[in-house]
Amino acid sequence: MVVDDAQFMRLRVTKLLTRYGHEVVEAENGEEAVRTYCLLKPDAVLMDITMPIKDGLTALSEIRQFDPQAKVIMLSALGQQAVVLQAMQRGARNFLVKPFDTERIIKAIQQVLKRCEK
Ligand SMILES: [Mg+2]
Repeated sequence: MVVDDAQFMRLRVTKLLTRYGHEVVEAENGEEAVRTYCLLKPDAVLMDITMPIKDGLTALSEIRQFDPQAKVIMLSALGQQAVVLQAMQRGARNFLVKPFDTERIIKAIQQVLKRCEK
């Protein structure tokens, strides 16, 4: 699941993941992310931090409460190190700093999915 309030970002990441054979659902804020997660239980989540209605940190906590095994990778902007640290403490598996390159996204996803199979 790709969660970001910026449509161009969702489009970009979805396109990339689809090209690599992943099935992707999107959410445009934290609230939609939590709802969609509970419905579909996606294998992994790419989660933006700054979003309206419900931010990524809150959504991360709620998703992990629903599913303690949830694999969430945070998408952060430069200068959000403190929030990223909080996210890791709340159970995020990894983080990617924007603007990120395609190789990093794919690598991070493959890493969490590999751990998922074990
Ligand atoms: Mg944002």
